[in-house]
Amino acid sequence: MQWLKSIGSSLKIDRLASVLNDSLWQANCPLCNRPTDLILCKDCDRQIDAYKSPDFLQKDYPIKPEIPLYSWGIYDGALKRAIAACKYDNHPEIMETIAAKIADTWKRSANTNYPNFKKIPVIPIPLHDKKLKSRGFNQAEVLARRFCDLTTMPCKPQLLQRVKDTKAQMQTKSIQEREENLSRAFTVPSSQKSHHRNVILFDDIYTTGATIREAISTLAASNIGVLGVIVLARPQFKSKS
Ligand SMILES: [Zn+2]
Repeated sequence: MQWLKSIGSSLKIDRLASVLNDSLWQANCPLCNRPTDLILCKDCDRQIDAYKSPDFLQKDYPIKPEIPLYSWGIYDGALKRAIAACKYDNHPEIMETIAAKIADTWKRSANTNYPNFKKIPVIPIPLHDKKLKSRGFNQAEVLARRFCDLTTMPCKPQLLQRVKDTKAQMQTKSIQEREENLSRAFTVPSSQKSHHRNVILFDDIYTTGATIREAISTLAASNIGVLGVIVLARPQFKSKS
C-alpha cells in the first residue's frame, strides 16, 4: 500500500479519485507514460531536478531592488516540458509535485529572509475567466495552493482578479503593445480593499516581468504591498561574474 500513501500525501482527495479512475490501480507518468507508483516516475523527477536554479533568490533583482524574485528552476529542458504538459495536456497534478520542491527550497531560505512568513498571504497570478474555463485550472493557483499547504502560509487567490482577457505576451510585437496589452488587466475586488497588508505573489513562469509589474501596481493602488515574488521557473539568468 506504499503507492497509495505516496499518492495520498502528494494529492488532494479529488485528484486522487481522478487518478484512480484514470488508471484503476496504477498511474502512468504523464511525461514519459511509463508506469509509476508516484505522480512522476523517478527518471522524469530526476530530469526536472537537473533544472533547479543554482540560486533561488535571483541576484539581478529584475523586478525592483526592493522586491526580490525567487525562482526554483530554469525554464528549459525537462522542466519546460513538464510545465507544457501540465498546461496543454491537462496534467495539473504535475504542478502539485513540483510545488513540494519549491516549498522545500522556500522553507530552507525563508526563515532568515521572512521570519514571520507563515502569516504572509500568498496570491497566485490569476487567469481570466475565459482562459480558466477553457483550461479547467489555473496552474499558478494549483502551485500556490499546494505550496501553501506545505508551508502553512495562507493562500489568498481572492485578493486579485484578472479582468482583461490579455493576449499571450509572446504574441505582442513591441514593448508599447506589451504594456497596453496588460494595462488594467487586474483588479482588487472591493470586498478585499479594507486595510493595508503585505503579500507574496506566485506565478509559474517569469519572463519579461510585465505581468508581475502590472499586478504589483494594481495591488499598490489598493494599499497592498508585495514583499517578494516566487515563481517556478525563469529563462536562464546569466550572472555577470
Ligand atoms: Zn516519466
